[in-house]
This record gives sequence, structure tokens and C-alpha cells, in this order.
Amino acid sequence: MAEEKKLSGGLDYFRVAAALLVIAIHTAPLEAVSETADFFLTRVLARLAVPFFFLVTGYFVLGRDKTSSRLRRFLVRTFLFYLGAIFLYLPFGIYAGHYEHITFGTALRMFLFDGSFYHLWYFPACILGILLVASLKRFLPLKATAAVTGILYLLGLMGDSYYGLMVKSALLASLYEAGFGLWSYTRNGLFFAPVFLFLGAWISTNKPEGSLSLREGSFLSDQKEPCMSGFYACGGLRFLTGFLLSLLFMSAEAFLLRHFKIPRHDSMYLFLVPSAYFLFRLLLSVECKPSARLRAVSTWIYLLHPALIILLRMVAKPLHLTWLLVENPFIQFVCVSAMAVGAAFAITALKQHGIRWKTTKIPEVNPMKNNGSFESGRRAWIELDRTALHHNVAYLKSLLPENCRLMPAVKANAYGHGAKLIAQELNLLGIDAFCVACAAEGVRLRKYNVTGEILILGYTHPSQFPLLYRYHLTQTVVDASYGKCLNEFGEKLHVHVGIDTGMHRLGERSENLEHLQSIFRLENLVVDGVFTHLCTSDGQTAEEENYIRLQAASFYRTVEALEALGCTCPRIHLLSSYGLLRHPEMAEDYVRAGIALYGVLSNSDDTKRWGSSLKPVLSLKARIASVKELLPGESAGYGICYTAKEKRRLAILAIGYADGLPRSFSCGKGFVLIGGKKAPIIGRICMDQTIVDVTEIPDVAAGGYAVLIGSWGQHQITACDWAHATGTITNEILSRLGGRLERVWKEE
Ligand SMILES: *Cc1c(COP(=O)(O)O)cnc(C)c1O
Repeated sequence: MAEEKKLSGGLDYFRVAAALLVIAIHTAPLEAVSETADFFLTRVLARLAVPFFFLVTGYFVLGRDKTSSRLRRFLVRTFLFYLGAIFLYLPFGIYAGHYEHITFGTALRMFLFDGSFYHLWYFPACILGILLVASLKRFLPLKATAAVTGILYLLGLMGDSYYGLMVKSALLASLYEAGFGLWSYTRNGLFFAPVFLFLGAWISTNKPEGSLSLREGSFLSDQKEPCMSGFYACGGLRFLTGFLLSLLFMSAEAFLLRHFKIPRHDSMYLFLVPSAYFLFRLLLSVECKPSARLRAVSTWIYLLHPALIILLRMVAKPLHLTWLLVENPFIQFVCVSAMAVGAAFAITALKQHGIRWKTTKIPEVNPMKNNGSFESGRRAWIELDRTALHHNVAYLKSLLPENCRLMPAVKANAYGHGAKLIAQELNLLGIDAFCVACAAEGVRLRKYNVTGEILILGYTHPSQFPLLYRYHLTQTVVDASYGKCLNEFGEKLHVHVGIDTGMHRLGERSENLEHLQSIFRLENLVVDGVFTHLCTSDGQTAEEENYIRLQAASFYRTVEALEALGCTCPRIHLLSSYGLLRHPEMAEDYVRAGIALYGVLSNSDDTKRWGSSLKPVLSLKARIASVKELLPGESAGYGICYTAKEKRRLAILAIGYADGLPRSFSCGKGFVLIGGKKAPIIGRICMDQTIVDVTEIPDVAAGGYAVLIGSWGQHQITACDWAHATGTITNEILSRLGGRLERVWKEE
């Protein structure tokens, strides 16, 4: 959908392509075709893959608005991944005899520079490079950082593709020889990674400020091909030209060097830097939806492919297929790629669909047993569509960056849907963080056996602090003095610190650093997170857009400053539904999604524009209590507001304004669906009853039912329609649906 195009999706698609290029390096698919073609593919084109990964990392981890806590978490995660990979490849390495003459020195060299198995060098290079660039950026001006990373790259180049020129100097040659005792190649975290990491960070910092509104503008103006217009507007054509030219020069460079037998190794070229740079900018200017799935897939392909190459050999041998599967390089490439892609998708599918390793059994109430059928005797009820909920969860998750979690807002009885059914179902889907408005809502969730973190977004009176402790609820620190108050309770309480960055509702003001810092010093509070709330993320004016930027900048600045003061902010979050749909790149550790999870946005325009992939979860139905005739001249309802001109047939529905039906729908303003046809509401809506006109609808009988929100036949009534008709937003409509309504799952 055009409406959901977001920047940076192009990067995700290319990641998979880059991972396949790495497989090409290791399988040489064109070897049998032509030596030149093989050289071009594996030694020129595919050399772009790893620099591309570094650029992406620099862009997302070291760029603008990136906090040091994010950096730290990325490093820890990469390091753990690296450790896991080392263990995974240990048997292969032993089998290949990699570790036979290992000493402490060679082990250290492997660990820091070479990688313990041949493709694993990427991980230490990434870590080392990030540490280096982050420190350089911190202590040096920008230009100096650029210069240092550039010089390091040149030094690396002399030990790689330009080795033959360098050895002409005996002094240099001996220096490099000594270096090669410490690292086997210069394509490592010291010489190779930094320049690309720096460039990625630099691109992120130098995105044109206007690109955001420009992008948004491209679909507001209803253009047919926003993708291409965005592409041109973002300078796509310029980058394409730049890329093709630099690739041409890089090819010439590579072939020349090879011709004169200069390279020692061929990972680094002069023109690799501009080529990778233009490629990255080019991909960045392609507007398409980001995909967390593809991101994870590319990592798994990269990690697993060498193991799969070996596996293929092991399988081919007993089958006597070595001649085909191994010795034909193209077939080998295709097989390994297919296996790697398949395995990567399988692994990410397991993770994405929330296979819960630690299953807490929630007693299944099975409301489906006696649902929907007229015999169940229900008066007026809400039907929840489980498939729609699953769909919305999967969709929102697909927008999340790696390691960002959904923290559904289930306040106000899950926006009227019923917190019990919704939260239990989300729990089963593997969601383990929720937010609610008050302590009572949190306690209720615990009584429904909901597990995981429950964050209370609002104020809790000190008399209820024992509930926080007893039910393991996480409290928002709504300002610094409230923090002291929480601390005085005496028991350890888990909290998230609210920071007010411009909404001026809850949260300590971002400029009061000392006050904020004081919260972290409180001995009884365990600060698990820090968050802010944006107040214009649904807005479209330039002013509102700008306000988002201001709030985000203020938030990141404050978190940075707190970190610098030694206050650790373990998890940070700032987005709710609109923020995620429109600025997924700003998602940090959690997204507090409410309304979108329920399948609508606040009004129908927004839903069409940004939420067209969502599916409404809720339907509202009411029983027909009685059907009667109204003779000409007779009136119906309070205040005799309706008088029949001719003979009419009325149905009385067992639902009223006490159930959340807006009274302003009275007297013909609203309608309901019966038998797939529209039945207008006549007279005034009562507290518990509503009268509709069913003259035009055959076979209406007491005991049947009417749809007030949902679809029947050709017609649909949405919460957006209600909101539009009554001049409010769906959030209000839904959250006001009454406690008297029964909530059940729709029969599937
Ligand atoms: C209600 C609420 C949310 C959820 O907002 P939606 O727009 O429904 O996604 C997120 N954060 C805070 C602080 C809230 O109060």
C-alpha cells in the first residue's frame, strides 16, 4: 500500500541480496562459466556486501539520535551472537583442523580479528569498528574522525589489494609482516570496518531535515506512484549514477590490480568506498516498508551458510551426487542459497509467531462453546475476532526494529474490548509487556493470570503502593516528587521514569536534569525504563511534524545526559500506535501500541491512510427483544419524538446508552444492521433499549439480533463511522463500551 511506504525498507531487501552475495563468494557459482565473470561476481560485485552491512550498522547504531544505551545493547547483543556462533562452528573448525596448532596468541588473533571460522571475522570487526568509531566521534571533531577512518582504510588497502606496490619498500614490508602476525588480513575491525561505519553514521546525521515531511507529502498529494516520486525527490537518480560510475571504476581497478598480480587479498579497493556509499544512498531513497523479518533472515543466512556448504558435501557423498551438488558450482550455490533462505525463514518464523519456550498455562475459559447462538441468551455483546487480533499483532511486529517489543495498551478494559480476553490472548502470542492506566487495571490483569511486565502509565495513590509490590506492577514515576513518595514506601518498587518533553501532562520535565537524576538515586526504586509520550504523532501539519522531532530530540538528549551522569536507562520508549505506523525508525525498546492493535485508528481518514493493513477486532451486537406494529399517527419512545405517517414495523433492541451507544444517534441519525439490511434508529435512545424501524426488512423476529458495529452482508458499520457521526474519535467510542456488555470470541 502506498500509504505505508516508509524509508529504509530498501535496505532490508538488499540485506538478503547481500547475504546471498556472500554465499556467492564462498561457492563461486560462475566459476565454470568464465573466469572473468566469476572474478567480477565474487571479487568485485560481492565485495560490496560486507561494507553494506557496516554502513547499515553505522546508520542505525551510531547515527543521529542514537543513545549510548542503544549502542551498548547492540554491542552486547552482537558479542553474544558472536559467542554463540563460535560455539556453533567449533565442531566444524575442529573437523577442518583449524585449531590444531593453536596457541594463546593465535587464539587471541582469531577472537579479535580473524574470527574462529572463516566468515565469523565479521562479528569482531563490527564490534571493534564500532568501539573505535564511537570513541573517535566522542573525542574528535567530525572531520578528524573522517580522516582517521579514511587513513586506516588506506593503511588496510596497502596490506590487501595494493600489497604488491607496498612491498617495494623493505621497511614497509617488514612493518606489514609484523602486522600480519597480529592479524592475518587487514580487512578487519581496525582497518576495514571503521570507514563504512563512520559513513553510515554520517549519512544518518546528514539526512536532509526536510526529508521526513517531503516523504509524507508524497502520499498526501495522492500521486499514483509515490514510490518513484519519493525516489526522485530523495536524489535516487543521482545516487544510481554515482553507484554505476564508481562500480565501473572499481571494476577497472580490480581487473588492473589482478592483471599486474598486485593483491595479497582482494577485499579492499579504493573505489569500494564510493561504490558502497552510493549504493547505500540509492537503497535509502527507495521508499518501501521496512521489514524486521528480512533483517533477521539476512543475519541467519550469513551465519549459517558455511555450515550448510559443509552439510551439502556431507549429504552429497553417500548419495553419490557430489559431481552435481558440489562440483557444479552453480548448482552448489543454488542449493546452499535455498537451504540458507529456508532455514533463515524457518528460524524467524518460529521466533515471530511467538513460540513460547516458557509456557505458562492460562486456564482456558473457552467462551466459544456457547457463543453467538441465540440459545445462549445474551442480551448485548461484543464479539472479538481472534484472527484479526493475530493479524494486527503480526503486522505491528513486522514494523518493529530488531529487539523492540510490543507493549500493548490494554487500559480502559482494552479499549472496551475486554482486557481479560485480549491480554490472555496476547500472552499466548508471546507478548510479555503491557501498559494500563491505573493500579486496579494492573491487579485485574494479574488476577486473570496475565504474565510479564505491566506498566501503570498513570498515578497511583500511596495507599495503593502495596498493590504495586504484591502484584509485581511497574509504576510510572510521574514527576520527581512522586518518585520520593514511591521511595518512602520502603519496599523495592520497579518503575519507568516518565519524561515530559512537551506534552506537559505526566512526566518530569526534560530540562530538570537534577530532578531526573535524583529519581535514579532513590534507593528503593529499580528503574527499568525511561519514556516519553508524543502529542502530535497523528498530526499532519508541518508544525506538528516538527513537534515530533523536537520532542524526540529532547528525549534523546535527556537520556544521553542521564547516561553521562551515570544514570543507566535500561529500556527507553516513546512511540504509541501512530508513532509506530508513521515513524517506525523511532521505535526503541518498546512500542506502546493501543488503538492500532484493535484494528482501527482514531478516525476513518487516518485508518485509510496509515492503517489500511489493520483489521478491526470488535463487533457489537444486540438482541431483538420485541417486534411490533406502529399504526399511522402513533408515536414511539420518550418525548414522542417519532410519529408514524403510515403503518411501520418496529424492533426493540436490548441495548442503550448505558452500553455505550451514543444518545446522539437518536431520531434517525444512526442505524443498525439486521439481516444484512439497514434499520434506522427512531425515537430517542433509552438507557437500556433502542427502537429501530424494520418495516423494509422481512422476517425480523424477537430473539434475533442486530449488528451495531461490524458487517452483515453488503453493509458495514465501523467504530470510525460512529466517531465521525458523533464528532469524536474511535478511542472514545470503544473505551466507553459498557461493562454490562458480554465479551466473547467470535466463532471461527
Ligand atoms: C494510551 C497511551 C498509549 C497508547 O496510545 P495509542 O494511541 O492508543 O496507541 C501509549 N502511551 C501512553 C502514555 C498512553 O497513555
